[in-house]
Amino acid sequence: RKGKNQAGGQHYHVLMMFTKVDKSRSLQDKFKVAMLSMVKHGHFLKGEVLVLHFVSDKASQQLGQRMLQDFLQDATFKYEVLFHDVAELTQTLFPIVEAMQKHFSAGSGAYYSDAIFFLSVAMHHIMPESLTHIVQLDLDLKYRTNIRNLFQEFDKFPPGAVIGIIREMQPVYRHTFWQYRKENPQTKVGEPPPDGLPGFNSGVMLLDLQAMRASALYNQLLEPKNVAKLADKYRFRGHLGDQDFFTMIGMEHPDLFYSLPCGWNRQLCTWWRDHGYGEVFQLYYHCDGPVYIYHGNCNSPIPDD
Ligand code: UDP
Ligand code: MN
Repeated sequence: RKGKNQAGGQHYHVLMMFTKVDKSRSLQDKFKVAMLSMVKHGHFLKGEVLVLHFVSDKASQQLGQRMLQDFLQDATFKYEVLFHDVAELTQTLFPIVEAMQKHFSAGSGAYYSDAIFFLSVAMHHIMPESLTHIVQLDLDLKYRTNIRNLFQEFDKFPPGAVIGIIREMQPVYRHTFWQYRKENPQTKVGEPPPDGLPGFNSGVMLLDLQAMRASALYNQLLEPKNVAKLADKYRFRGHLGDQDFFTMIGMEHPDLFYSLPCGWNRQLCTWWRDHGYGEVFQLYYHCDGPVYIYHGNCNSPIPDD
């Protein structure tokens, strides 16, 4: 159900953005933490294969391949590593996402090189039809459980859901939707959980590519005129790429998204606490229950245990 049965064995596909890693010691350190913890807790059944996809430039790929030799040493499971050239993917992606870039990118223009920040949005058009499910993961994560368990969440998608995602844990969208909230004082848009709609974080995303391809609604929402319509309705102007797009369409069509337990992407960034939102911060930051994955977003340190 989750992967292609190649030679009888189930394949579990994960994808990570892996660009300019050769230029950043900090990103290399994060990658090490992510891969070592994934390998440490990773267990798969006989015949199953974890397929690791990386979207990369040539220099990062070279470094990544060397680092992975080391990090995957102790893996108790079968794996495959696939590098995708960021320039090649961008060529396919740009025409699909160009029109939405101006709503969800920093700056005014739609820069060609920024299209890759919208990869998840059009992943169902980028990957071959035979690939039906993929999990997109940030590099600044630390795994505390078996990554295989995350794939079981695909089976919990309600009908109509195309993407599994975890809520944003800072009041960032309370801020972004400021004008809409002022004009609609009763709205749940930007309100904290459990009753509000705090938006999504893109650090851990389950993309049901089969459902994304099949959903007429989802594909309509990718059309430039419909993106513009919603951006206008919600007075939305962001700079966080795919996460902004999913957050905005999620306000209008929450049923497209399956909201995973917060422990699958326990974000640690507290920037907005000290930038005007201290009063309400805990309402958003709060996450009960077990932590399966820590997300050290905005360069936050990750606890040792
Ligand atoms: N990333 C990358 N190269 C960069 C910066 C980011 O490949 O130079 C990828 C990486 O997978 C990273 C993701 O983009 O995890 C999102 O960036 P980051 O985690 O730094 O954002 P945050 O979670 O702090 O908002
Ligand atoms: Mn991150």
